[in-house]
Order: sequence, then structure tokens, then C-alpha cells
Amino acid sequence: MKALFVAAECAPFAKVGGLADVVPSLARALGELGVETAVFMPRYRGVEEKSGLSEIASLTVPLAGEDRSCRILRGKHPKGDVPVYFLDHPPYFDRPGIYGERGEEYPDSLERFALLSRAALELPRALGWQPDILHIHDWHTSLVPVYSRFGVFPTGAGILLTIHNLAYQGTYPVERARGLGLPGEAVSALTHRGELNLLYGGIRFADLVTTVSPTYAREIQVDGEGLEGVLRERASRGELFGILNGVDYEVWNPETDPLIWANYSADDPSGKAINKAKLQGELGLSPEPDMPLVGMISRLVDQKGLDLVMAAFDRMMSLGIQFVILGTGNPTYERFFREAAGKYPGKATALITFSEEWAHRIEAAADIFLMPSKFEPCGLNQMYSLRYGTVPVVRATGGLADTVREYDPASDTGNGFVFEEYAPEAMLSALRRAVELYRGDPEAWRRLMVRGMREDHSWASSAREYLKLYRRLTG
Ligand code: ADP
Repeated sequence: MKALFVAAECAPFAKVGGLADVVPSLARALGELGVETAVFMPRYRGVEEKSGLSEIASLTVPLAGEDRSCRILRGKHPKGDVPVYFLDHPPYFDRPGIYGERGEEYPDSLERFALLSRAALELPRALGWQPDILHIHDWHTSLVPVYSRFGVFPTGAGILLTIHNLAYQGTYPVERARGLGLPGEAVSALTHRGELNLLYGGIRFADLVTTVSPTYAREIQVDGEGLEGVLRERASRGELFGILNGVDYEVWNPETDPLIWANYSADDPSGKAINKAKLQGELGLSPEPDMPLVGMISRLVDQKGLDLVMAAFDRMMSLGIQFVILGTGNPTYERFFREAAGKYPGKATALITFSEEWAHRIEAAADIFLMPSKFEPCGLNQMYSLRYGTVPVVRATGGLADTVREYDPASDTGNGFVFEEYAPEAMLSALRRAVELYRGDPEAWRRLMVRGMREDHSWASSAREYLKLYRRLTG
């Protein structure tokens, strides 16, 4: 079995959010089950610093009124042996950003990712390597089944679409279809509510559709950001699945993590206190070992429940906590957290940047991880937190509901604290339960922490579910 992943992100080459973590780790997990996997993605600026690259083919793809000459470069993922093929077309991809700059989307992302999708269909011939499965991800690659179905570039491979976030659909005015080289009937088939909608096309024409948690797969059939109808249709034919993302424990493991100050494990979590003290020192938080440290790592966008944190911030701080946030995004949130850090010197701090290193350090140093998302397809940080002994406080939505269970003092079960209602008071009450246990019963806290650390959220079982779907597609 051979599978080609086609995606806009793949860590460490290009990362904006969870998609980048999932692509290489799922490809590797499937590799361990005997699937020959490869990844195809754009050659963004800076890729050459992270992998050797060799040119192996060239392609000419007609798009947006021009014959676009592209090179295919072969690289290697630093972990494991999954080959990564890069689409090199400097006018589209040699730019400072992946999707845009300074909060502005690139206006030609439709054409940029249409090029990636077209090239993905031509790649097998160029490589002399015919995949059985084209595993596409999100709207960026959703034109793959459309180009195939409408005869622009038919493929014999089965096409599986994984939706990582339905909030991003790739919508454009219908006139923009002109440069894509699609027949009129394909353009009509891609049009939803008066706009071109790439994800809509992907959902309609991929052979099977998955999303990244069972709960999200159910939720989006009720509220699917306008796509619930087509999602229900696929589900009613038994063609929509929710498969939980896994954690790459080679990257996210406090026992071996090279980015944290001190390694530790469930058997001996004592190093966690060292990480906390170091972080407090480096970020100017007062050196108090017993002060509950609440961490957040997040794209600063509405999805992540940051309006709840803003509304409750003073009340959160009055619970007697320290707070650290790492994130970039919406300027309103960036400003709020900068100002909040100024208002609570020694108690709150904000790193308004993207930093892999600090993401690992915060996971290792914090006692509590806050993730009050409005919706969350899967969410990775709550699972990273569990492994790092950082007790998650989450809203019960999507993958958060599938992975975090409320602590029950009577039976000493559960792995975190959960709230349902999307309201600051509900979030505050869950955080208060966490802080009270941390302060009031350190032994119970330690058991809760260690229980989370011992859970297995690796890819093993989820990769097997993907393999079942691959088999179904290949008969
Ligand atoms: P989403 O894909 O919606 O952003 P996930 O929880 O699935 O949410 O994945 C987020 C990933 O991005 C995690 O690996 C997280 O550590 C990382 N991340 C988000 N913001 C930052 C940041 N500012 N710096 C470093 N890593 C970040």
C-alpha cells in the first residue's frame, strides 16, 4: 500500500497549527504499519535550512493564464524516513509567510493551492511512483478530487480527505474560477451559497472524508459552518469518520525533550519543578514553587475561547495564580495579553511570538493548561499537557471532550477539569476546582498528574483506523 499525503503544512518545514504536527507523525505511524508514505507540500522560504534538497523532476502546469514551470525537490523528514517532496514555484511560495503576512491573507492563495493540487496529481508520473491513496488535508488540497473527477487530471488512486478545521473553507468569488482550468460543470459543483468553496468540493468529491475526532464528526453534522448538509449526506452513506489525532511522543515527551530544562517522567516527575523555577526566572515571574502556574499556547483566534479569558482575567488572577501565554494572531488579543502582563508584574507574562522552544517549555513548566475553546476539531495541546503532567482545564467540545475527563475526587478518576457552557463563569469555576485541588490536596494532585502522564494518546490505534479506510478504498 502506498499513500501520498498532500498538505499545506508539515512540521518542521512549515507550521502554523496542529495540521503541521499531524501530517508527518501520521505518515510515520502509517509507515510503521507497512504503508509506504510520502508527503507533498510547497517549498516555502527557509525549507532548505531544514533538509537537504535535490531536484528530481520538473513540471509545467497551466494555471491562471500561464504555463507555470515548477520543480519537484526531494527532501527528507528529520524524524524517520518518510520522503518529503516539495513543489518549488518561487512566485507563489518564496514568501515570508505560509498563508499571509501581518494578519493579511495572500490574495492569490486560491491559485497557490490550486497549483499544489494540480501538481499532486501529476507527481506520481514524474516520480514513477504510483500511490494507491492520495490523502489530502483541508481546503488547500480539496481541488485534488475535483480535478480528478471532472477529467482535468484523472487519478486511479483512492482519495481520502481529512478535515482538520471546518472554519477554514477556502471561499472565493465564482469569477476567480476562471484561471483554474476547470470545466463549467466543475465550477457549478464547487459553488456553495454563491461562492466557490473548495472544502465543499473536497467533501463532495473525495472518496471518503474523515475529521479529527469522533465528537467533532458528530458536531459538524449539526453545526458545520454552513457545510452540515453535505457532511450529513456523506455520513448517511457511511462515508464520514471521526478519527482522533495522536501525539508524536518522539517530539512531545518530557523524558527525552531536548528543548526543556530538565527531563522527567511519570515515575519521577521531580524535574517538573525545575522547569517551573527556570521559566519563572526567565520570564520574570516571582519564584514561588507552590503558586499554581496556568499556561496557554494558542493561535490567538476567536475559536480558542480567548474572549472568555479576557472577560474573566481579573477574576482568574484573584484565584492566586501565575499565568503565561504563548501565541500570535488577532491584534486585539495580542494587545490584551501584553497589557495584562503589564498590569500583573511578576504574576502574568505574555510571549507574543511563535516559538517551538517556548511551547515545549511551557508544557513542562506549567501546572495547569487552559484550553477553553469555543470549538476544537481535535486539539493537540491538551494531549501534550497530559503527557507533561500539566493538568488540562478545557471546555467539553470536539476532541477536548474525547480526551479530557473531569476529575472525580470520590473515585479518584479523571484526568482534568471540564466545563460545558461557553461562559466566563463556567470556565472560572473549572479553573477554581483545579486550583483548589492543587492547593488543598497535593497528594491527590500528584496522582491526577501522574495518571494523565501514563495515558497513551499515541498514533498507534488511530493509524490503524486510517489503514482500514485505505483498505476499503483499494478493495
Ligand atoms: P490548531 O491546529 O487549531 O492551532 P492544535 O491544538 O491542534 O490547534 O495545534 C496547535 C499546535 O500549534 C500545537 O503544536 C501548538 O503547540 C502549536 N502552537 C500554536 N501557537 C504556537 C506558538 N505561538 N508558538 C509555538 N507553537 C504554537
